[in-house]
Amino acid sequence: MKKILLIATGGTIASKKTENGLRPAISAEELLRFVPEIKYVCDIDAIQLFDLDSTNITPDHWLMMKDTIKNNYEKYDGFVISHGTDTMAYSAAALSYLIQHSPKPIVLTGSQKSIYNRDTDARKNLYHAFQYAVSDGACGVHIVFNNHVILGTRARKVRSKSFNAFSSIDYPETAVFRDDHLIRYLNVKENGPVRFYDKLDPHVFVLRLVPGMGADVLKALRSQFHAIVIEGFGVGGLPGGKDGELLKEVMAWLEHGRLVVFSTQVQHEGSDLSVYEVGRIARELPGVLEARDMTPEAVVTKLMWVLAQGKDAEDACDWFRTPIMHDILQ
Ligand code: ASP
Repeated sequence: MKKILLIATGGTIASKKTENGLRPAISAEELLRFVPEIKYVCDIDAIQLFDLDSTNITPDHWLMMKDTIKNNYEKYDGFVISHGTDTMAYSAAALSYLIQHSPKPIVLTGSQKSIYNRDTDARKNLYHAFQYAVSDGACGVHIVFNNHVILGTRARKVRSKSFNAFSSIDYPETAVFRDDHLIRYLNVKENGPVRFYDKLDPHVFVLRLVPGMGADVLKALRSQFHAIVIEGFGVGGLPGGKDGELLKEVMAWLEHGRLVVFSTQVQHEGSDLSVYEVGRIARELPGVLEARDMTPEAVVTKLMWVLAQGKDAEDACDWFRTPIMHDILQ
């Protein structure tokens, strides 16, 4: 039997009702007791890494998850992380950059309802996460949720209440479960050797443009952040034209060696600054990056990973543009 390590981190899946609202309070061991049939799937050890609503998760927690996997990598055939759904896509993307070329699977799962609830999705999701973790060929970082197996760099939470909370954005799902039967669509390959990265730079800001926004905000942010993601409209562009204040501020960011990424507020199909005049004025600036079809979670966490490598701006841009785990299509 394969040996899997469960790393429990909290979330709704492990929550109990309190007079102040739902709060994680169910231990890793207890979670497993709710799904006794898992013991026929694999041998399991469990670690309670922390017990948080995932709203409270920070880049330091991603590094803790990475360290736990790194320190136990040789002892186990795979890893299941139980996690809150709200920031699960961030954690999955961050782990995809912190742990690269892993021939062993790292599977995140959670639920929209506590495992205590009679009508919960938690038991099925947890069971499927282990089933996927022991399946032949499973590798790299994935989210398993509501029958879907989604690449860590492609997952987004798209519903706040329903069980089908996660989608694979602009990329096929790796696999699906039909009645506990795994049907694989993609042959995701990671042949190793696994590579762990130990640092992230959290100084990344996401600025969502709204019509009429001035440039002051960009100026104010420059001293505090090392990269900015400017979420524009449609395929992307910058308001104000060639002589506009926003463009001048973007140029100032670049001159100070900061990274600037243009992305879109639109969920599907990504950015393309080459289409419109308003996009080309931004695209022509040397060193500007484009998110294209990357998810916002992948953009942010990839920037944190790239910045932490201590590269100059040109090398950092090359690293950002290099696809990792199918995060960006060339
Ligand atoms: N607030 C919860 C969390 O992210 C939501 C959930 O797990 O579904 O921890």
